[in-house]
Amino acid sequence: MTTATSTAAPTEREESLSPSESVLTSVYESATRLAIDAEVVDLLKTSWREIRAQLPVRMDDRKLRIFEGYRVQHNGARGPYKGGVRFHPKADLDEVRALAMLMTYKCALMELPFGGAKGGVMCDPSRMSETELNRLTRTYTQHINMILGINRDIPAPDMGTNAQTMAWMMDAYGQLHGHTPGIVTGKPVELGGSYGRDQATGRGVATCMREFARGEGVDPHDIRVVVQGYGNVGSWTCRVASEQGFRVIAVGDVKGGVYNPAGIDIAQLDRWFAVAGSVAGFEEAEPVTNEHLLELECDYLVPAALGEVVTTANAEQVRARAVIEAANHPVTPGADAILARRGVPVLPDILVNAGGVTVSYFEWTQNIQQFRWPLERVITELEARMVAAFGDLMVRTGRDGIRPRQAAFDIALERVARAIKLRGFV
Ligand code: GLU
Repeated sequence: MTTATSTAAPTEREESLSPSESVLTSVYESATRLAIDAEVVDLLKTSWREIRAQLPVRMDDRKLRIFEGYRVQHNGARGPYKGGVRFHPKADLDEVRALAMLMTYKCALMELPFGGAKGGVMCDPSRMSETELNRLTRTYTQHINMILGINRDIPAPDMGTNAQTMAWMMDAYGQLHGHTPGIVTGKPVELGGSYGRDQATGRGVATCMREFARGEGVDPHDIRVVVQGYGNVGSWTCRVASEQGFRVIAVGDVKGGVYNPAGIDIAQLDRWFAVAGSVAGFEEAEPVTNEHLLELECDYLVPAALGEVVTTANAEQVRARAVIEAANHPVTPGADAILARRGVPVLPDILVNAGGVTVSYFEWTQNIQQFRWPLERVITELEARMVAAFGDLMVRTGRDGIRPRQAAFDIALERVARAIKLRGFV
């Protein structure tokens, strides 16, 4: 058996890596430690399939705009491809490829019977009307429909998309193939979505925080949390974490942040957000910029929005005791190395934000069985899976004396590599 020769734990200089190269630094590090067959690593370096599609859309002003859309299927050894669809100006092919890779390892870490995929359309949904988004989503679905399938590839929401987007995707797919609710997850409940899917990612983040605090022997009431992002993931993290007793002291979104060292009342913040469309301007707290937010003194820093926000430029200034990665890939490899040197643990994205795809899995199974679980069951089963995965990861971290991210990749890569071998791919 040959072993992987590409090595390298991240160094503090690695800032020029593309998103997929960044993810691969973790894969290579685990592959070297675990002596994974070099042919298996070769297979995982690239994607199984990548579609780049031209998406012409007639805008409300009657002008034609041509968007670019992607669907990347990274690896399907463990089951049908699974992963969200991102609508964002920065969702280029390499970003989507990196996110598809993360899905392969996230599903493996959570023991979900899925491979990894991701989709994206380079667009700014905040500047598009509902009818434009509807047309774009349908065009995108038509252009990738041939590689989707309930046992082939199942999309879900991600940044810039939501339950409504999934309803349009389901409908566009259904027009070609017949009514197929299980073709997407994260649908509206009225169309076969699962109870609890909207809160699943944030609830999973809060569960990881609670388990981490328990491991540290600290009561959540004594833990100050800073959350960057108040979209689906950030807002639900704040809601569930504050229910669990954590003190959320600062929250930020694209328009700005707010800080109150005594703790922010999340129910009040939600009422403000419903009117203002942003956390910025909330009067029960002081304003703070997004850059400063990441550098506030706190216990847990939770980046819950874009990727690559903690970099070599600001990692020295992070004054949190731990970083909890609610977003996908928010800490660059160079920043990861700096935080490791400074003794700041980073709980990795492929565990922390896995609650979303876990409840997507529940939704898919409910659709296949044409049966619906009550919310309590969704929450109980999600909790059980998050706690189990967290426990496995911590045992591995302690046993091998490695960082949590590496333990997560070790566990996941072992499972993916085993499935590749068993199927006879290499
Ligand atoms: N977009 C989410 C993620 O990054 C969820 C994917 C899914 O539910 O398939 O994990």
